[in-house]
Amino acid sequence: MLNSGGSPAVVRTAGAATLLVACLALASCGGDGDGDGDGERDGAQGEVTVVYQDDTVKPQDRPAVAVIRKSRVLEQVADWVNASVALPHDLVVRVTGKVPPGVTDAVTQPDGRTVFVPPSFLTQIEEVSGKVAKTVKRPALFPEDRYNADDLTALSTQFVFGHEMGHALQRQLLLANLGLEEDAADGFASFYTVNEVGPGPSLAAALLFDELAREEGGLTLEGLSSDHPVTQQRVFTFLCYLDGSDPKRFDGPLVGAGYLPKTRAPLCPQAWSMLDYGWWTQLAPHFRTAFRDQGDEAQRHAHDRLIAETKALGKKLDEVRRAQ
Ligand SMILES: [Zn+2]
Repeated sequence: MLNSGGSPAVVRTAGAATLLVACLALASCGGDGDGDGDGERDGAQGEVTVVYQDDTVKPQDRPAVAVIRKSRVLEQVADWVNASVALPHDLVVRVTGKVPPGVTDAVTQPDGRTVFVPPSFLTQIEEVSGKVAKTVKRPALFPEDRYNADDLTALSTQFVFGHEMGHALQRQLLLANLGLEEDAADGFASFYTVNEVGPGPSLAAALLFDELAREEGGLTLEGLSSDHPVTQQRVFTFLCYLDGSDPKRFDGPLVGAGYLPKTRAPLCPQAWSMLDYGWWTQLAPHFRTAFRDQGDEAQRHAHDRLIAETKALGKKLDEVRRAQ
């Protein structure tokens, strides 16, 4: 929990927040694994585009869509992928009310070529973010002038869209997963936002998911049997990767302030290093020619850091285990 202790309020509603988690759990997960990562590396010309289909947006969803559009958070993710990765196919991100049956959340189609972002989903994020801004004490690390519904919505949506982009990359490039695809999708959201944006999206997503976990209440069989980690667990993983990316900077405001437990924190620098090296390594065969030098350098750096952090963890392991 982010709001300085206390157990989550067990207030289960059938409201927006519940839908949000259910759909992240179901609808965004893709289907048959039929991505064909067979694009020629240098000849691959796929581009990510973001399309706002305004005529499909209901009046009640226009404010949230306007917040996301103005923030350009979706375009930032798209631009990074376009500059770095040669996709075998185009990827169209549709902010649209015209979605396949049953879609209420951001979803990536199984072939990784379309992401749907329903306007009502953005309104749900805005509602939960508004509640967070009003009821949850601001973590000191989060800038005061951005602790409002609109900025929290934009930042957490960037993280959530990073998750969908993780699915799209996995499907289009046929990336080899060694764990759950949903974990890898969350991992790409952390990898991209921590490296390219800063702590804002991870923090906003942690606040959003923490609020959702509170509204979900206790663990259920449905939650435990999901292909996603349970919601509260995702909060701590978002924070762990952020902390591990720069413990000198984040240990104080995240661990010292009690948001990330002291039992988890010592594992986070090595965990982040493994994630960072993992994504650079997965993407390396697909780097765009113009990005190759920069990407290879980032991968080398991540490799060296992983070796160093693994050694460092080995040295402090006895101490870490005693504390757990
Ligand atoms: Zn997903």
